[in-house]
Amino acid sequence: MADVPMPLTFAAPRRGKPPRHFADLMPDERAAAVTELGLPAFRAKQLSNHYYEGLSVDPTTWTDIPAAQRESLREALFPPLLTYVRDVSCDNGATVKTLWKLHDGTLVESVLMRYGVRRDGTPGPNGVRSTLCVSSQAGCGMACPFCATGQGGLQRNLSTAEIVDQVRAACAALASGELPGGPGRLNNVVFMGMGEPMANYGSVLKSVRAITSPAPDGLGISARGVTVSTVGLVPRIEQLTTEGIPVTLAVSLHAPDDELRDTLVPINTRWKVDEVVDAAWRYAETTKRRVSIEYALIKDINDQAWRADRLANVLQARGDWGWVHVNLIPLNPTPGSKWTASRPEDEAEFVRRLEKHGVPVTVRDTRGREIDGACGQLAASESNR
Ligand code: SAH
Repeated sequence: MADVPMPLTFAAPRRGKPPRHFADLMPDERAAAVTELGLPAFRAKQLSNHYYEGLSVDPTTWTDIPAAQRESLREALFPPLLTYVRDVSCDNGATVKTLWKLHDGTLVESVLMRYGVRRDGTPGPNGVRSTLCVSSQAGCGMACPFCATGQGGLQRNLSTAEIVDQVRAACAALASGELPGGPGRLNNVVFMGMGEPMANYGSVLKSVRAITSPAPDGLGISARGVTVSTVGLVPRIEQLTTEGIPVTLAVSLHAPDDELRDTLVPINTRWKVDEVVDAAWRYAETTKRRVSIEYALIKDINDQAWRADRLANVLQARGDWGWVHVNLIPLNPTPGSKWTASRPEDEAEFVRRLEKHGVPVTVRDTRGREIDGACGQLAASESNR
């Protein structure tokens, strides 16, 4: 943890905008973009097929398009957005973190996790599921002191297509069968990589629409399989409540009391625990989707038994009809951090207290820990090289 707190940053520093890409376009904008290039409108459908169903980004291989048009399409609508830098894997290859370079040299990462694969790489008895953790910003302006990304500050927002293409790339990797467990599909997308999705609301929402629209308009992943995680930008949670997209909302609470949350999640100085929990409750009430409360257990900081009681009270003050679920995350210490994960007995007591109060609780598995999954550390170490 830094001794001097990082400032909160809402607006990304201005940088060159990423080039426009087909994946930035909603279905009703695609025909116009194609006719603008002097091509017949029906080509838009072919492009959707290639990108969203064929998961291909290389127009030079699209033989149903006249060769002369392929190059101009590449330039105008399919500029390369994500350049593979490297990946690291663990869990026998079932967890893979990929580092991508964007057009301006900015680095972001995404993590693909495969569940239900046996040690020998064959599918387990209950089938195989896959989750991709995506980045919505390069860096993050929310300055949470325990998070590696938060300590690096905000570089810029990702465009819709830069988000969608992380998902397309994962779908392509799964379809090709290069992961243990054999060829498969992507079931879940979680906005828990780098960045605060609600601080890049417009692009994130459009990317969710592209990810969840049925193929070939989009990637065809169920909205119920998509989770948007936020530090608690209350007006954006309220906006999401009105969108009519049944994604799962996750709120990174990490403390039930304002005094501690002000330091762990600095946005709390603007929207307090009660306001965030109220907004989360209204989200659940309107969408009928159970909200997930994220709580990183940090030794001797937020893991006291009384805080578990307090957390249960804060959540149950809104009703006990099963609107909420607590996801405890053992802290993944960042380099140089003075904080570490809770003792096993404190974690167990925290769980026991929540259960005693009737609050559904799970402890997140520590998938990807060896590769610093989802904590911005790969991108951080790369840029320090
Ligand atoms: N900005 C969003 C999404 C990205 S982080 C948010 O904060 O919700 C995804 C989750 O990982 C958040 O709950 C975040 O608090 C948590 N996280 C970040 N750094 C962590 C660490 N070092 N150990 C455990 N969880 C961490």
